[in-house]
Amino acid sequence: MIILYGDQLLKREQVHVDIEDRAYQFGDGIYEVIRIYDGQPFHMQDHLDRLEKSAKKIRISLPYELDHLEALLKELIRQNDFTQGNLYLQVSRGTAPRNHAFPKNISPVIIAYTQPFERPIKEQTEGIRAKTVNDVRWLLCDIKSLNLLGAVLAKQEAYDHDCKEAILVRDGMVTEGSSTNIFIVKDGILQTHPANQLILHGITRKITLQLADQLQIPVKETAFDRSALFEAGEMFLTSTTMEICPIIQVDGQPVGNGKPGKITRRLQKAFVQSISSNSKR
Ligand code: PLP
Repeated sequence: MIILYGDQLLKREQVHVDIEDRAYQFGDGIYEVIRIYDGQPFHMQDHLDRLEKSAKKIRISLPYELDHLEALLKELIRQNDFTQGNLYLQVSRGTAPRNHAFPKNISPVIIAYTQPFERPIKEQTEGIRAKTVNDVRWLLCDIKSLNLLGAVLAKQEAYDHDCKEAILVRDGMVTEGSSTNIFIVKDGILQTHPANQLILHGITRKITLQLADQLQIPVKETAFDRSALFEAGEMFLTSTTMEICPIIQVDGQPVGNGKPGKITRRLQKAFVQSISSNSKR
């Protein structure tokens, strides 16, 4: 397997992460997961733009231009002969003797590699179960930070209850999933949390809102409370890896009639069409 390390494409055995890398010691860095379908990156530009925004927010200056990074990532895909799955990209603040404050003259460390991953067709067809969990994460959730412990613990709590996703609730309001954005349909209106500091501004969330607009599905980007989950007719989550996936049960209660809803199905269909037009480009 070939890995992007800095601006070099190396064999995995040649890449060594330093014990004093701040990503490792502090989670001091940012990341992206980009989907590859038929050898083509999906919405790569949106992911790179978000990476740049995250970098600015934590005061990391990327060591080279986004165009150069994009060219290196495409070369990585080509050299690995990679067709289906995820491209993981991480930027650490860099390596220095351990001390919380930013070290002087530190250079960011970029790592990217490909991971095979099949589209989760079963989950998308049948829907998944979810569990509500307190959102105890920090208050800058719009940064795609490497600090994922809050998300890890929430996801595990869901798994411990035989659920696939944790729906996070902060001060009584639903924010997002542990690694997804959450949508409900109530009275024919699609609702999701506004893109502020309490959620990650998901690329799939953005695509879904564009598709809803094209399909003339009314949308409200407003926060809703936990009880709205139990009054919703439909519910789904969105993410790069899960795409659009119905949620059919929350905390043991069926959502609507306990089956994926009609609006969810229309959006899923439109999403799959956008994947195939991306692959044909
Ligand atoms: N929300 C959180 C907390 C996430 O970690 C993710 C993805 O990792 C998402 C939402 C979905 O974002 P995207 O659609 O860009 O994958």
